[in-house]
Amino acid sequence: ASAAGSSSTPAHNAPLPPSASSAARSSRIAPHSHIKGLGLTPEGYASLDTAGFVGQNHAREACGVIVDLIKSRKFSGRALLLVGAPGTGKTALALAVSHELGTKVPFCPMVGSEVYSTEVKKTEVLAEAFRRAIGLRIKETKEVYEGEVTELTPTESENPLSGYGKTVSHVVLRLDPTIYEAILKEKIVVGDVIYIEANTGAVKRVGRSDAYASSYDLESETYVPLPKGDVHKKKELVQDVTLGDLDAANARPQGGQDIMSVMGSLVKSKRTEVTEKLRNEVNKVVKNYVDQGVAEVVPGVVFIDEVHMLDIECFTYLNALLESQMAPTVIFATNRGNSLIRGTTDIVSAHGIPVDLLDRCMIVKTESYVTEQIAKVLQLRANVEGLKMGAGVLEKLAAEGEKSSLRYALQLLTPASILAGIAGRTQIEVEDIGEMNELFLDAKTSAANIAEAGYEL
Ligand code: ATP
Repeated sequence: ASAAGSSSTPAHNAPLPPSASSAARSSRIAPHSHIKGLGLTPEGYASLDTAGFVGQNHAREACGVIVDLIKSRKFSGRALLLVGAPGTGKTALALAVSHELGTKVPFCPMVGSEVYSTEVKKTEVLAEAFRRAIGLRIKETKEVYEGEVTELTPTESENPLSGYGKTVSHVVLRLDPTIYEAILKEKIVVGDVIYIEANTGAVKRVGRSDAYASSYDLESETYVPLPKGDVHKKKELVQDVTLGDLDAANARPQGGQDIMSVMGSLVKSKRTEVTEKLRNEVNKVVKNYVDQGVAEVVPGVVFIDEVHMLDIECFTYLNALLESQMAPTVIFATNRGNSLIRGTTDIVSAHGIPVDLLDRCMIVKTESYVTEQIAKVLQLRANVEGLKMGAGVLEKLAAEGEKSSLRYALQLLTPASILAGIAGRTQIEVEDIGEMNELFLDAKTSAANIAEAGYEL
């Protein structure tokens, strides 16, 4: 079996660790891992509970139309606005739209209030989110040694890797000791088909052959040194990064041979901050790559939840971002009706969004769920998380969801499984949910308690 995706970069040029913000973003997507797409028929109608989506047929079909518009490039300069109560699947819809646009399409979720940081300007936060939502698929042609491993013995002096190439019968690749280490680290065994990047020494397993034993000539016992050009070939490698990654890498160049380090020295700079100037320079290089056919731009989706938390300055900047040449698809979400636009003292507008931006939006409403739908989503999540529920648990949790919200019911699942574990059970029982309710409050009950006690927060 192939071990696609196994990291193979030797320790001396380890890739950049993922930034804190990208780790936070992926943890935000984790609760939606059951969502695989919009679940529409080829005609664009919502099919029953497919792709992990339950109900919300109208919104799904509307989003399907948006996906068609995006694909036919008729959505530029516009945005999708999802309006609905908390926990009605707005984030899930936005993620589903990005899935429908293709695999490896970047999805960058943020919450409106994230722009208020003491360290970074509000507009910078927005600009970064937009850059992280634009992917770049880089096709690199690298010189590699490819072959099937027939023996793995380091010699004292040279640590050769003996491999069987497709075009020569016996080969000896004379390798640097670090490569031998990398091979051990990657747990490469005899019979694996591997390639070694000529420049970096990075080792990747590309498959496994069962034919090695017969093709290995035991008689000669002498390995013939590799004639250059025989097993030495060019291979197309594909790497997906975002413009945001490139900005960050170029703001703090690392040096080294792995792709992010190389991509991190596009721009000759010693800056430690991502500036507009740096972004423009990165754009220029990217444009060159695209023109040369080395890279392809993959526009993704930026999702701004609680968009009413943005202020007038952000909205003005958003208008400009929407107009920019390399803009991702923009999806907003809100649960507010008419409200004051932040940063103004007296401008009230629908959803707290200025009219000029609203004019660019196509608005889709999400519906509240009925108990049966809540139960279905709960069951989906329980399956994904590998949690078992005893008799009556699903009904009880769904009733909790109906009373407060789907999100609340979903959030009870994991702690309930912990309580079950403490009690020495492998499945969640109704009593665990009961105990949860004694320990924790849902928002409505909590607020009612405060009101009853006669004091305000
Ligand atoms: P908020 O406005 O509070 O951010 P939201 O409307 O974005 O809420 P989500 O975060 O999308 O709500 O939904 C909460 C959880 O319920 C997520 O785990 C989501 O994947 C799941 N979910 C919501 N709606 C559906 C649905 N129709 N089908 C399947 N799962 C759903």
